[in-house]
Amino acid sequence: MKAHDGMYIDGEWRPAAGADAIAVVNPADEQVIGHVPAGTAEDVDAAVRAARRAFPAWAATPPAERAARIATLRDVLVARKDEIAETVTAELGSPLKFSQAVHVGMPIAVAGSYAELAASYAFEEKVGNSTVYLEPVGVVGAITPWNYPLHQIVAKVAPALAAGCTVVLKPAEDTPLTAQLFAEAVHEAGLPAGVFNLVTGLGPVAGQALAAHDDVDLVSFTGSTAVGRQIGATAGAAVKRVALELGGKSANVILPSADLARAVNVGVANVMSNSGQTCSAWTRMLVHRSQYDEAVALATEAAAKYGERIGPVVSAKQQQRVRGYIEKGIAEGARLVAGGPEVTREQGYFVSPTVLADVTPEMTVAQEEIFGPVLSILRYEDEEDALRIANGTVYGLAGAVWAGEEGEAVAFARRLDTGQVDINGGRFNPRAPFGGYKQSGVGRELGSHGLAEYLQTKSLQF
Ligand code: NAD
Repeated sequence: MKAHDGMYIDGEWRPAAGADAIAVVNPADEQVIGHVPAGTAEDVDAAVRAARRAFPAWAATPPAERAARIATLRDVLVARKDEIAETVTAELGSPLKFSQAVHVGMPIAVAGSYAELAASYAFEEKVGNSTVYLEPVGVVGAITPWNYPLHQIVAKVAPALAAGCTVVLKPAEDTPLTAQLFAEAVHEAGLPAGVFNLVTGLGPVAGQALAAHDDVDLVSFTGSTAVGRQIGATAGAAVKRVALELGGKSANVILPSADLARAVNVGVANVMSNSGQTCSAWTRMLVHRSQYDEAVALATEAAAKYGERIGPVVSAKQQQRVRGYIEKGIAEGARLVAGGPEVTREQGYFVSPTVLADVTPEMTVAQEEIFGPVLSILRYEDEEDALRIANGTVYGLAGAVWAGEEGEAVAFARRLDTGQVDINGGRFNPRAPFGGYKQSGVGRELGSHGLAEYLQTKSLQF
């Protein structure tokens, strides 16, 4: 795999300030596929200064021109889609077909949506005797996780650029090669120097320096709740804007009138895809007691089909963590009906697609984010019980409701404390706001709501 040994700052690849490097490992065969520099506070400072210098001109660039640049960036991503998919597969481990369709397809759609939004968004509005201007917040520090290496980057960088902000990106240490490819695409698309900058490095070093930098106006972070809490506190102390996209423990509520087989099959696919490393995955399946045994049998059968198709999880650390959760679930009384904690392959950080039945709401596997291919099936007595269980975690990122009639599912969905709900298997919409209630985060990504995160308002009275 091709790897740059520098940082992309001010429109060029520059040597890093320090000599430390991060090894990138292919989780499917445990081989080192490249090294990237481990950035320091000095690299972050150089990148922030470049972003600050570039900000006034980019903010003053007419939205239609910014839109055209983002459209070109989208076109470069399209032209290089095979290379990006292969890189995602090499550093994340997801099957190549999934990388092509989702890891590359989704960010291309999102970049396209921001090219259109930048051109059509009302950056100015009249309110009585006032004119309200929606102005870019300034320099954005973007910190992204490894689970969707390109999508997480594009979901922050595209709206920030559309708004007129400039960006410093610190991507996850497990998947920095995709981030370097993105920086190449930005360069190829002809974005002005300093508008986008990349610093690779460790979270507690480069990430922390970026989040705490005085000249960053907004920190946009996606990752664990523990780190999100720290970043929120740092931003709060400095009175700067912050957007946090954190964990989830979403419920897939199957009401008795639903098409049970479809709801279970789609539910299992949702959890197993990307090896369960999706923050919005419906990791808790809630089934009425009258259909419980049938649902467990269907889920067991569906999970078995994923045995050979599933990719590894991202790292040895993640594999250990997920296996630990499965063991804990069994120890707390859950019934293992598919998969399990055993390592079944000699090489690679694989976890068997796992289904735990007889899970009760207070169990650790029903409360904490596992981030692996593990589905918990819970039993409910009636609708009120289902609602209590569904809302009974600190999270509120996503969810699903299935019912015979759409209206019945919508009525239930409206009572869920969560940011996004798929009704009877509703399709992903790259323009729908994505983000959490409760401890799943602050702010929204995607579509016009995602763009608004990067804007601040100024009103002039006449
Ligand atoms: P993480 O929160 O540690 O890392 C996310 C990003 O934050 C990375 O770029 C990392 O380098 C950076 N970071 C880490 N410590 C930092 C600090 N002190 N200051 C600034 N930046 C810092 O998450 P992880 O280790 O990749 O995964 C751990 C768990 O987080 C997962 O098992 C999962 O539960 C959750 N997670 C959630 C999402 C999501 O999309 N909501 C994505 C990935 C992981």
